[in-house]
Amino acid sequence: MNDHDLFEHITRAVGPDLVGGRVAQYIPALAAVDPGRFGLAIADADGRRAPRGTGDWRVPFSIQSLSKVFTLALVLAADGEALWSRVGKEPSGAPFNSLAQLEREHGIPRNPFVNAGALVVTDRLLTLTGDARGALREFLRAESGNPGVDFDATVATCESLHGHRNAALAHLLADHGRLDNPVNDVLEHYFWQCSLAMDCRDLALASGFLARHGLRADTGRLLTRSEAKRVNAVMLIGGTYDAAGEFAHRVGLPAKSGVGGGIIAVIPGRCTICTWGPALDGHGNSTAGITALDTLTTLTGWSIF
Ligand code: GLU
Repeated sequence: MNDHDLFEHITRAVGPDLVGGRVAQYIPALAAVDPGRFGLAIADADGRRAPRGTGDWRVPFSIQSLSKVFTLALVLAADGEALWSRVGKEPSGAPFNSLAQLEREHGIPRNPFVNAGALVVTDRLLTLTGDARGALREFLRAESGNPGVDFDATVATCESLHGHRNAALAHLLADHGRLDNPVNDVLEHYFWQCSLAMDCRDLALASGFLARHGLRADTGRLLTRSEAKRVNAVMLIGGTYDAAGEFAHRVGLPAKSGVGGGIIAVIPGRCTICTWGPALDGHGNSTAGITALDTLTTLTGWSIF
């Protein structure tokens, strides 16, 4: 099937889902986004063809938890496997911002993609670079080839004003001795990393190293082959909140979603895909994004299974 037909099928399939969910409410700056938006981009791993997409694929949105994939990769690149003594690699089976699970498990987050796990990763990146959010922005600009990638100060400020649960998680981590930096510094970098605004094209390009077994856009090595495998594996078991099983069942790809409505998905050796649809299901995953990726893997057979 050619791209044009594929995009048409997908766009038709997601139609009903654009009204089938709810835009994230707990971050007021996100609640104002139009739920009718939909975009999808595909970037080939070998970079031979230009990235292509459909709908609102060039409209920037708040990357939110998609940032967690990149901070994880940057920490693994700088620090290797040491991170896995601070954070687990199991599915959470609980909401992404659960305080109860973190307390029960003595301050070791289930995986790097629940909020507590992402705070531990950001803490580590801050120690390693001195500027976690700056290192992340620099990486995303380089990989996407877009020097205009930047933070959205309104979203960052809004999250910091309303981020009581994230603050509670960070304090709980600190109480268990799991953070090296002051709580407020870690939170600040975390809120700003989540506030980055990017479009589907730039995100598909920036995730390319995961489809290239760890190689960056300029072919320099970011991750070893086995580290890249681990990031993809953790995306599969924990990238779509506590609905990772359902997502794997429907789509069959490693993926990470964010409450801004984005999903990045990886087909190792072939391509990376980014979808955006701001309306979310009860787990926090984009309803349009799941249907789009389900349709894509069904029509193309490009699942990893
Ligand atoms: N900044 C959001 C939070 O910490 C990210 C959540 C998400 O996208 O999963 O609540």
